[in-house]
Amino acid sequence: MLHSIDWHARAKTAKLPNRPFIDGQYVDSLSGETFPCIYPGDGRLLTRVASCNAADVDVAVRSARKAFESGVWSRMAPADRRRILLRFSDLILANREELALLETLNVGKPIANAFNGDVVSAATCIAWYAEAIDKVYGEVAATAHDMTTLIVREPLGVVAAVVPWNYPMSMSAWKLGPALATGNSVILKPAEQSPFTGLKFGELAIEAGIPPGVLNVVPGLGHIAGKALGLHMDVDCVGFTGSTEVGKYFMQYSGQSNIKRIGLELGGKSPQVVLADCEDLDAAAAGIAAGIFGNSGQVCNAGSRLIVDEKVRDLLLEKIVAQARVFVPGDPLDAKTRMGSLVTEDQMDRVLGYIDAGRAEGAATVIGGGRVRNETGGFFVEPTVFDGVRNGMKIAQEEIFGPVLSAITVRGFDEAMEVANDTVYGLAGAVWTGSVKNAHRAAKAIRAGVVWVNCFDRGSFAVPFGGFKQSGFGRDKSLHAMDKYTDLKAMWFAH
Ligand code: NAP
Ligand code: MG
Repeated sequence: MLHSIDWHARAKTAKLPNRPFIDGQYVDSLSGETFPCIYPGDGRLLTRVASCNAADVDVAVRSARKAFESGVWSRMAPADRRRILLRFSDLILANREELALLETLNVGKPIANAFNGDVVSAATCIAWYAEAIDKVYGEVAATAHDMTTLIVREPLGVVAAVVPWNYPMSMSAWKLGPALATGNSVILKPAEQSPFTGLKFGELAIEAGIPPGVLNVVPGLGHIAGKALGLHMDVDCVGFTGSTEVGKYFMQYSGQSNIKRIGLELGGKSPQVVLADCEDLDAAAAGIAAGIFGNSGQVCNAGSRLIVDEKVRDLLLEKIVAQARVFVPGDPLDAKTRMGSLVTEDQMDRVLGYIDAGRAEGAATVIGGGRVRNETGGFFVEPTVFDGVRNGMKIAQEEIFGPVLSAITVRGFDEAMEVANDTVYGLAGAVWTGSVKNAHRAAKAIRAGVVWVNCFDRGSFAVPFGGFKQSGFGRDKSLHAMDKYTDLKAMWFAH
């Protein structure tokens, strides 16, 4: 399928969703204002998309509240929600070609990744929560003999999901799965760079039988539509994925309004620690390259700091460079391409700015370091590896969100752990070692929500994902994510 489709031809005729989806249908925005949607593979304008403002957000919130209070979804038997959500998941897969194309047009990721990765992962996520929802139980507490005390979880009400552009469908599904399964109504605010697939989800949800108002989608700008959701007095919770900077705003919005619950999945500067006793440097090099060049490095848990023992440094760097050569930026709509563009011209300029900063601070580029494919008009940066980085440098401390690896040389286990933890972030980390003892010591020592040992970026919906420190709090994925979208209620029954 993937290889037999002429994706360029499809792109020419694709229907691009560009209006808000509220109360079960596409509607016009109240102001009529729009923002441009650019294809980062060549810089052309695809369409203009309605820009929702506070008034549009208010309409969406009222629709979501009405649906929630009516009980049409929130009080539906879990087994029935399960059936409908499974149909939603099936419809995502049934629309795989269209959704993959829309995702690639928005963000410039390789069509093969969107087709085999993003769409399938989003559908799997929805199905996982659908299947979970009629298999979770409440508690009976050990209280006095003349009491029966039940502890149950109830949906919060109206949940806003504010998501980034790097994995638009997946990040949306990580919120929609647990929030919808637990009976909430949801308002999804996709990133301005990537509104298409979220809007299409609104349509598919209705087709699946999710009642109108239970999922509304409001495309718009962060400081307008996102802020309006954050400050809204009738939004009960925001599930946010994005930068630490904007995550801090959401904490403020909550404090300035109704103390709405906030879940934050934020940025990272994840360490890839390679100890002197690493037994398989080839596997390490492959994992490290995929972990920083995959999705053009636009990954929250990208392993952007290589912390390598001096004893294996030279050999490892050589192998990483060889692996980097596999990631050749190419046409995102060509099914053979493994690395696409960056998401926008701004993001490309930001990444190139960091590369300049690395050079200015005295780090040496081992490979890469520039923009490529300029002739296409697209926003491509080649895989870049800096050696001779000190952990205090800007390129070792700040999230670049591009295909840039900073290699820091250390001596021994203790220094490796110290450098690994010398960051404001704590999303993820990895250690490559042949020693069982060092594997366990490192897994405990790294201050992060996820630690991989002799692998990188492995994931499952059965396992929670999220950060320590300024990488946020609350977890996506697994049953733990359902805690974010529910409140505990204790019920005392006197006999
Ligand atoms: P971002 O700028 O923080 O934006 C995320 C979302 O917040 C977007 O929908 C954005 O809308 C909105 N927003 C922006 N400014 C806002 C404001 N003042 N008030 C309310 N909402 C606002 O992040 P991004 O650039 O899209 O994505 C990259 C970041 O996401 C990176 O830091 C990355 O590490 C993080 N991320 C984390 C995870 C994780 O699971 N931990 C996963 C993926 C990405 P606009 O698009 O209109 O700005
Ligand atoms: Mg942004």
